[in-house]
Amino acid sequence: MSYTAAADRYSKMQYRRSGKSGIMLPAISLGLWQNFGEPDDMNVFRQTLHTAFDNGITHFDLANNYGPPAGEAEINFGKVFKQDFTAYRDEMLISTKAGYYMWPGPYGEWGSKKYLVSSLDQSLKRMGLEYVDIFYHHRPDPNTPLEESMAALDLIVRQGKALYAGISNYPADKAAAAFKILQQLGTPCLIHQPKYSMLERWVEKKNDAVNKNLLEVVDESGVGCIVFSPLAQGLLTDKYLKGIPADSRVGRKLPNGALTENGLNESVLHKVAALNELAKKRNQTMAQMAIAWLLKDQRITSVLVGASSSAQLLNSIAAVNNIDFTAEELYAIEEILK
Ligand code: NDP
Repeated sequence: MSYTAAADRYSKMQYRRSGKSGIMLPAISLGLWQNFGEPDDMNVFRQTLHTAFDNGITHFDLANNYGPPAGEAEINFGKVFKQDFTAYRDEMLISTKAGYYMWPGPYGEWGSKKYLVSSLDQSLKRMGLEYVDIFYHHRPDPNTPLEESMAALDLIVRQGKALYAGISNYPADKAAAAFKILQQLGTPCLIHQPKYSMLERWVEKKNDAVNKNLLEVVDESGVGCIVFSPLAQGLLTDKYLKGIPADSRVGRKLPNGALTENGLNESVLHKVAALNELAKKRNQTMAQMAIAWLLKDQRITSVLVGASSSAQLLNSIAAVNNIDFTAEELYAIEEILK
C-alpha cells in the first residue's frame, strides 16, 4: 500500500523556533534509537513513522549507532523513506550523529575530523539520502581538540552533507566553548541535545566553570534545545507500576544502554506511582504529564520521544494539549521527586 500523508497534519502540532535560527521544530520529535532495529517489526515501525508525519511530526532523529545492530535503524529508516517519504523530503528534518563506537581502529569513534566526516558519509549511504538536516557531534571527546571536532561540523555543512550542526551530551562549559567556535567559523550551532526528564535534571544544575546551567547557556547563545529520553525510557509511564510487561523495553532485555531491571527500584516506582495520581487529576496519562512538564519551559524547543507503537506515539503527542501547570502542581511534583 502506498502512503499519502494526512492533509491536515500541520494543524495537529505546535512548532517552536530553534534558538535564534530560521528552523521551527515540532514540540514533539520522534527518535529511532530503539524500536527500529533488526529485531523489530517493519510493519510496526513503518506505521509509527506514518503516524508521526500524519500528526505534524516533521523531525526524525537518528545516529550512526542506532539499531541493534549499529547502523540498522538508519538502514530501516532509509527503506521506509524510499517507499513512502521521498515526495515529502523537503517537509522533513532528518538528523544523525557520530561520536560513539562504530568500527574498529583509531578512527571509529569520538571526535576526530577523520571519524566524523567518514561516519556521516556512511550514514548517508545507509539512509539513501543526499544530505541530512542536522549533523551532531554525539558526545564530547576529552582527547581531540574541540576546534577540530567543530571544524569537522563546519566542513560538513559547507560541503552540503548537512544543513545545520548540533552537539549532544556536552556539559555547559564545553557547550559554550563549542558555540563560540562554531559562531566564529560561520556555522552557528542550531541545537543542543541533552538528556532531560523529571528524573534526570543535570541541565538545571549550575556548571561552576561558567557559573550557569546548560539551559541558561543555550538560551543566551541563541541555540535550540531538544531533550532526549523524556520518559526516562518508559519509566515515567504507568507501565512498570504493576510489574514488568514482557513487551516493554525492560522486559525485552535490550542491549546498549537500554533501561534494565536495575533501573526499577522501589523508591523510583513509588515516586512514579505518586506522579501518576497527579497526572490523573490533570486528565493526562503519566507519559503526557512528563512530556508537558518539559514543554512548559519555552527554552525547550522539542521533546524527543521514542515509541514502540503508533498508539503510544499518539498518546505522547496529545501531551501538547495541556502544558500549563499551576504553582501547586509544580510544588507537588517537586515534593514527590525529592
Ligand atoms: P523515551 O524516554 O521517550 O522512551 C521511549 C519508550 O517509552 C518507548 O520505547 C516505550 O517503551 C515508552 N513509551 C513511549 N511513549 C509512551 C507512552 N505514551 N505511554 C507509555 N509508554 C510509552 O525516549 P528514548 O529513551 O527512546 O529516547 C528518545 C530518543 O532520544 C531516541 O530515539 C534518540 O533519538 C534520542 N536519544 C539520544 C541520545 C543521545 O545521546 N543524544 C541517547 C538516547 C536517546 P516500551 O518500548 O517499553 O514500550
